[in-house]
Amino acid sequence: MSQPRSRREFIVAGLSLPVAAEAALESPRVNPLADAPAAPGAPVIRTRTLGRTGLEVSEVGFGCMITSDASVITRAADLGISYFDTARVYQNGNNERLVGAALKGHRKNIVLSTKAKGGTGEEALAELDKSLTELGTDHVEIWYLHGKSSADAITDDLREAQEKAREQGKIRFAGVSTHSGHEEVVAAAIEKKLDVVLMTYNFTMGDRMEPLLASLREAGLGVVAMKTQAGGRSDEAKARHERLTANGGMLAALKWALRTPNVNTTVPSITDMAMLDENIQAMAAPFTPADEALLTARLETIRPNYCSMCGECEGTCPKGLPVADVLRYLTYAEGYGQFALGRDNFLALPRELQDVRCVDCTSCPVRCPHGVQVTRRLRRAQELFA
Ligand code: SF4
Ligand code: SF4
Repeated sequence: MSQPRSRREFIVAGLSLPVAAEAALESPRVNPLADAPAAPGAPVIRTRTLGRTGLEVSEVGFGCMITSDASVITRAADLGISYFDTARVYQNGNNERLVGAALKGHRKNIVLSTKAKGGTGEEALAELDKSLTELGTDHVEIWYLHGKSSADAITDDLREAQEKAREQGKIRFAGVSTHSGHEEVVAAAIEKKLDVVLMTYNFTMGDRMEPLLASLREAGLGVVAMKTQAGGRSDEAKARHERLTANGGMLAALKWALRTPNVNTTVPSITDMAMLDENIQAMAAPFTPADEALLTARLETIRPNYCSMCGECEGTCPKGLPVADVLRYLTYAEGYGQFALGRDNFLALPRELQDVRCVDCTSCPVRCPHGVQVTRRLRRAQELFA
């Protein structure tokens, strides 16, 4: 059985980039999509190329999933953030309307992505038409197959739908997003010639994702990192988030995700101006030993609670509970402060899985090699959502 790695091992790996990789990150590039030179005092906006798409995107993008204030999205675009990510299902179908309205007037300067959950090509294409209407645009730069966790889920039918949408000019590039099953999904994305992968990536993973990220870069795919702050707003309470923000822990986490050139951009969830101002600073300064110290301390605190959805659980639930998914729903509620989002996802599980109660088990074969207290957290999810 593999052992939990020391807290220092997790973080230190992030500081040891190859020389060539460090060189690739040396020079800030002003956002080439911006119309005018940056005003004095304007934030530094560094850009990277999103793999073979050739799209130039700000290193810090904007995850719109839980944003309710359109003015925060507009201000991000005003400041030079150039990558915005949404999905058809976010906020029960309302998020795309908000994003479209917020970015009106910025469309030609930004890269916009959305996602479809549909299991068939026909369903996905119908979602895309609705997305374009809601976003108020005739195309998106990237259209993701949403939340795929296995190679089989990236069907030929869905890939054909993406290519059809591309031929029709409704999308420029095809992508897949994945929360878990990274290895399998990445291999399938390369084999099936997708352009971009949107995947979970944060400091709790240490260096174990680097080979996968490197394989994507080598194959020419763009990489967008999500869940970069490992639990978002807080670990278990808003008060904790305020402390993290005050001491720079959230910023340090974002800088950690950007320390590798194998990540092209990030989509932290941003809900207010303070978070925007904080996140944007990640493009101005490198990851430092002080950041490392902050993350080392934070990792120790969140280790029993935070599931990175790495898919490396030892053992499986005989009742079929999708452990990493349920733990992700709990993170939405407790980490992001989005109870409804967590519960909506839980209630979308088949009825028999909603009815499973971990408290009824005398033993559990599922173990987390990274220190998550799996059964305790599942019981908490069931208390909250079921
Ligand atoms: S419980 Fe642990 S091993 Fe399982 S997906 Fe979460 S972090 Fe990975
Ligand atoms: S405790 Fe929960 S995850 Fe473990 S075997 Fe029982 S139902 Fe499955």
